[in-house]
Parts: sequence; C-alpha cells; structure tokens
Amino acid sequence: MANPKYIFVVGGVMSGIGKGVASSSIGRILKSKGYKVTAIKIDPYINVDAGTMNPTVHGETFVLDDGYETDQDMGNYERFLGESMPSINYMTTGRVYMEVIRRERNLEYGGKCVEVVPDVPLEVIRRIQEAQKTAQADITMIEIGGTIGEYQNVIFLEAARMLKQKFPRDVAVVMVSYLPTPGSIGEMKTKPTQYASRSLNSVGLQADVILARASTPLDEKRKEKIGIFCNIPTEHVISAPDVSSIYDVPANYEKDGLGDILTEVLGLEQRPTDLSEWNDFVAKSKDGIKNVPIAVVGKYFDSGEFVLSDVYISVLEAIKTAGYHQHLKPKIIYINSKDFESGKLQLSELDKYAGVLIPGGFGATGIEGKIKAIQYVREHKIPYFGLCYGMQLAVIEYARNVAKLAGAHTTEIDPASPHPVIDIMESQKEVVKTSNMGGTMRLGAYPCSLKEGTVAGLAYGKTDVIERHRHRYEVNPAYVGQLEQAGLVFSGRSPSGVLMEIAELPKDQHPFFVGTQFHPEFLSRCLTPHPLFSAFIKAASDRC
Ligand code: GLN
Repeated sequence: MANPKYIFVVGGVMSGIGKGVASSSIGRILKSKGYKVTAIKIDPYINVDAGTMNPTVHGETFVLDDGYETDQDMGNYERFLGESMPSINYMTTGRVYMEVIRRERNLEYGGKCVEVVPDVPLEVIRRIQEAQKTAQADITMIEIGGTIGEYQNVIFLEAARMLKQKFPRDVAVVMVSYLPTPGSIGEMKTKPTQYASRSLNSVGLQADVILARASTPLDEKRKEKIGIFCNIPTEHVISAPDVSSIYDVPANYEKDGLGDILTEVLGLEQRPTDLSEWNDFVAKSKDGIKNVPIAVVGKYFDSGEFVLSDVYISVLEAIKTAGYHQHLKPKIIYINSKDFESGKLQLSELDKYAGVLIPGGFGATGIEGKIKAIQYVREHKIPYFGLCYGMQLAVIEYARNVAKLAGAHTTEIDPASPHPVIDIMESQKEVVKTSNMGGTMRLGAYPCSLKEGTVAGLAYGKTDVIERHRHRYEVNPAYVGQLEQAGLVFSGRSPSGVLMEIAELPKDQHPFFVGTQFHPEFLSRCLTPHPLFSAFIKAASDRC
C-alpha cells in the first residue's frame, strides 16, 4: 500500500468563499476514485470546541457521534462523504494547546523546554496522523480555517510545512483563492491571488493547485497568468465559479480534471472517477417540479440586516435532501417566532405552508411565539416536525392545552413552574455541578428504541436506532403517564425506558406531528436522507 497522503486546503484573499465545500467536494471526487478518504477541520480560535460560541456569529454547532461540538464544516464533510467522523478530526488552537500543556504538566516532555515551534505543530501533526490511522484513510483532507497571512493560523501552516518536509511526495497543498471583478473596472483581477500565493510561499509552502473562486468561470488568459505568477502549471489552476447549488461543485472541478491532477501530484495510481451516484442525486435535486413550502420557525435570525441561514444549515440541508430524493422542490422560509409574540405576524400565516419545523434552541427568547405556532399547527393539522427544543415545546404545548396542566413549562425558563414537564435529569445536574458549562450537555450518539407501528417506527422501518443529542433538559418522567393519557405517544425511548426520545400524535389524529429529543439533522446525508425528514416532507407534500 502507498504511504498515507495528505491534502491541505488553505484559503487565500478572503474568508467565506467555500473552503469547506471545496474540501468536501475534493473528498467526494477522491472517494469516487475508490480511495478511502477522511477529512479534518482546523479552526484557529482559542475555544476548545465550537459549543461555547454564539450561533448567530459562528453558525451552527455540529455534533459528532462521540459528542464533540464542532464547526459546521464537519457537517459538510459528513454529508458529502456519507461518513461519520470522530472528534480527532476536528481541532482548534485551544484544543491543541490544552493537550501540549497537559503533557507538559504531566512531565511527558522529559524536562525539555517546550516551545511554540516545533512542539505545537508537532502536536498538530500527531493529531492529523492519528485521524488518518483511525479512518485507515488513503487520503486525509485537512482544511485550515482562516486566510493565509493571518497570525492565527500560522502554527497550522507550519505543521503542513513540517509534514511536507518529512514526506515531500505525500503532501499536497490546495489554495482556494478569490478573483474579484470590481464593478468600476469590469475585469477579473488576479493580483490578490498572486499576493496570497506569495504569502503562502513566505511560510515555506507552495500551492500545488489553485481553486480560483470567482463569480464567473476563469478564462485561459487568467489561468496562464495565475500559473506564471503563482508558479504552477496552467492546468493546475481550476476554475471555480459561483454555482447555484453546492452539489454542483464536484462535477465542476472534474471538468478541469482536478481528481487526476491531485492523484498525480500525490504519486497515486490514476483511476477513473465514478461520480454516477452523486450525479444521480444532483439530477434529482433539479428535476422536482412540485414546490413544497416549509416554514422554519426559529429565533437565531438576527444578524444586522442579514438572515443567517448558517445557524440551521444541517436542518436546511436535511429538508432539501429529503425533498430531492422524492423529486420535490422544498422551499424554505424563515419565520422569526418573536413576530408571533409582537403581533407583527398572525398565526394564520402558517396556513400558507405545507409543513412547519421548529429547530433546536436555548433560552426564553421567542418561545411563547413558538408554543403558539405549535398549538396552531396541531389544531389545524399542518405537518409539524420539532427538533430538540421544538420537541420540548410541543410537549409543553400539549401539557398546557390538552392535558390541562396550567403553567406547564421547562425548568430552563421557569424553575418555579407548577408542572415542570421538561426538567433537568439528576444525572445531568451532577455533570453541570462538577464542571464548567462547556461540554456539559447530553452530547453525541445514544440508542433509541422505537415503538412498532407508530409514525416514527414506520418511518425508520426498524426498532433500534442511534441518534445524536445536544441538550440539558428532558421530558420529566413524572409526567409521562398523564401526557400519554391525554393522547401524546412517546414512540421512541432510551433503551432503559427512562428518557423520552420521540413524542408524536397518532396518524389518525394528525397527518404528521413528531418531535425528537435528538437532532436527526446531524445524520442526514446527501445520498441517504434521514427517514424522519423524508416522512415529514412526504406528509407536507401531501398537503399541497
Ligand atoms: N434548551 C434545550 C435543552 O437544553 C434544548 C436544546 C436544543 O434544542 N438543542 O435541553
């Protein structure tokens, strides 16, 4: 077997140009050549994980099977590659330093002076190699967050340089750059990319391939210019224009032969790229003619004048994927639940939608608006899917309005509620008491046993599943009996039966009313949509 190969993906000129999608797409291409691929994300910030960051600033927190809270790019990798990644595939500056300092305190450096260079990059390399071994990967993609020239990611670029110095034939560098076309000039400019390439040279690295992000495809003249000034063969400059869908990116790269270029750079055998399965999915994502409007009622939308869909990216992707596989065209519309509270929006607005989804969330803001929305869709038989907080709030709504438990609430908001139908479990209280807030939720994959014949049971078509969690509170076991008597069905429970994982209404009472304590969106993949999202979209489509 050939040595393990590594591809570093770095960003030039500016952030936000799709390094994550680029890495995922390259991974997909190489997987389609029959190579075993894994993907690592490096975030240069100090936060030890992404769980402590405000989603309106940083986007969604993605949770891995082993409970590690990561950046949304890990979600892109998992969706594109169709594989689950372990926590070793994600690192931040904070995580790396924490390990170096732990080892130093534990005398594991044998009395030597521990230095930023080389000890920190060596720890980065150790983690990269461990991820490679864990996945048994032929090719390991490593995306370094941020832009070349920033102080923050220098340590990681140094790790790339050191790894390449040791294994010159086994490391490739891909720079994702940006070519602006200033309105006043009307011409695509290559100079910022030339500077980015020089900055990369100044840390001892040379790009092997440049992905030229731009609003339009690159012409030959610019490819040549970038080739000459960035010191690479012209054909290693890949045109990466804006596309209407991120799923088009792998096929677009292949037009310029990116897969063969990379395997050649890495000295791997040349193999054909078989993107047929992927292309089938892309075709399905475009052939739907029936619009299915879905309202996502949430609160993390305010970012100045912008609507931040990144906060719910996995949810949006899961809705879209489920729709595409049924040849449907889901149209997602965001509704700020605060607008139902202020009266800016009437609840009857929800009649316009084929389905309503309430995603996860924390805290009091906007929740009474969400509870009102849930009551409305329950009573008006509009398909409803509640994820985590969306499930907890559905239980609260049912408790208040059907089981007649006045003042029912979650103790997250009202610790003095006369009916704390959602409460923190004793075991979780211990976790919170003994550590700080970071990483104290029920996190990661847990088994769930399903009741046969229920909406959820039928959707999955099996009785035992594993789903990912991220929450502190649970349905209070003391109220399960009363809620069931009032008609709510707990169709999924932890194997011990103590924790309620899925709440639903029977099919003869509502076309689709399902809430999950877990986050099914984290396990939806481009080629394999999540069964509950598929069932929700099917029910929504039946309404329009
Ligand atoms: N705030 C709720 C809890 O902590 C729900 C969390 C979520 O939706 N992810 O249990």
